Amino acid sequence: MVYQRSSQLFVDAEKVIPGGVNSPVRAFKAVGGTPIFVKSAKGAYLYDEDGNKLIDYINSWGPMILGHAYQPVVDAVIEKAKLGTSFGMPTEIETQIAALAVSMVPNIDKIRFVNSGTEACMSAVRLARGFTKKDKIIKFAGCYHGHSDSFLIQAGSGAITFGSPNSPGVTAGTAKDTLLARYNDLENVTTLIKANKNEIAAIIVEPVAGNMGCIPPNKGFLEGLRQLCTDNNILLIFDEVMTGFRLAKGGVQELFNIKADIVCFGKVIGGGLPVGAFAARKEIMNYLAPLGPVYQAGTLSGNPLAMAAGLTMLQALDNEPSIFKRLEEKTAYLAAGIDKVLKANNVVFTINRIGSMVSVHFAAEPVVDFQSAAKGDNETFKKFFHGLLSEGIYIAPSAYETWFITDALSYEDLDLTIQAVDKVSKTF
Ligand SMILES: *Cc1c(COP(=O)(O)O)cnc(C)c1O
Repeated sequence: MVYQRSSQLFVDAEKVIPGGVNSPVRAFKAVGGTPIFVKSAKGAYLYDEDGNKLIDYINSWGPMILGHAYQPVVDAVIEKAKLGTSFGMPTEIETQIAALAVSMVPNIDKIRFVNSGTEACMSAVRLARGFTKKDKIIKFAGCYHGHSDSFLIQAGSGAITFGSPNSPGVTAGTAKDTLLARYNDLENVTTLIKANKNEIAAIIVEPVAGNMGCIPPNKGFLEGLRQLCTDNNILLIFDEVMTGFRLAKGGVQELFNIKADIVCFGKVIGGGLPVGAFAARKEIMNYLAPLGPVYQAGTLSGNPLAMAAGLTMLQALDNEPSIFKRLEEKTAYLAAGIDKVLKANNVVFTINRIGSMVSVHFAAEPVVDFQSAAKGDNETFKKFFHGLLSEGIYIAPSAYETWFITDALSYEDLDLTIQAVDKVSKTF
């Protein structure tokens, strides 16, 4: 395939946008080469600026669960836009999507809409701190909760009592309130809680991790976190920005029957427009301004176009719950097919999958946390990525990402993908 126009557009972009992109992972740094510029997309396919057609396994990093340019969402946005695009005043559609979300997700009474997953997680932590009157939080290495300061943290020299910044610009003062634990390691969490008795406001976790590849929780891990939180007056925050409205109507809380105290959303809930949200039972949500003392706000929060897209998306998922089963079946089919051809070609690999999330790791050992994910062979991944791309298949340009399966993918698309994996892996 030719990427002449994309390459030129990237050169132009680099002059006026840092690194040519508005979000770093788009820049292909982890795999080499230059990013592909998209012109349009429909259903399961991307069409780039050079006229190439690609089968898409990123799907805007999750939101397009029903495929690109899903007609009801497009129509809803167009109709809404005709009525004005932003008012900074309440609109009825905000209540409609809130009521629908509250009916679909267990254990939440109220929900507040923001503009991104980052904002949702940042606000959830502030709310948890205000509500519990404690300062520290625990997060897990390899879990991503957006780019706000409290989350850009690595284990510090005193890892048991404080974290340290992993980006310049994050202050040591902020970092000292974030503790880092190992995913799927309850003992580690217990140790941190003991060493910081009565100081921890919240544990924030991706209940199914999706930002170090797809890593499902070990049996008992989420149950254990729930118990530790209950026993120590800590709020359990499920960051379901990726998993919410994807793994089930009610997300991971429903899937594993575990109750979180605060839940964060993003991605699918916006139907492809910039939306995030956080939700909880009323005692907690009533702590937010203007009812309560914890401040949180947004000029474009609850934007009518975004709400129209989100509402239409949630309605589609609510009206046809069989979508989740169908997505799971397609994903299982794809994973089984890839498993078969990689084995036949003697590749060292591990596939993780749950529902419509799947990731291929070029690692021999089970991938259960950040450390094991990092053992994957990145050179093989680069060959895999570029090989698939030349076959017209677009996966995330980083070994630490999940593939997102959409309902728009046909079994023919999946077969083409499996054949491409077979062809590419023969060249490893
Ligand atoms: C994508 C993501 C975020 C951040 O959402 P943005 O909309 O990119 O700010 C937070 N948490 C998880 C689990 C995510 O996957």
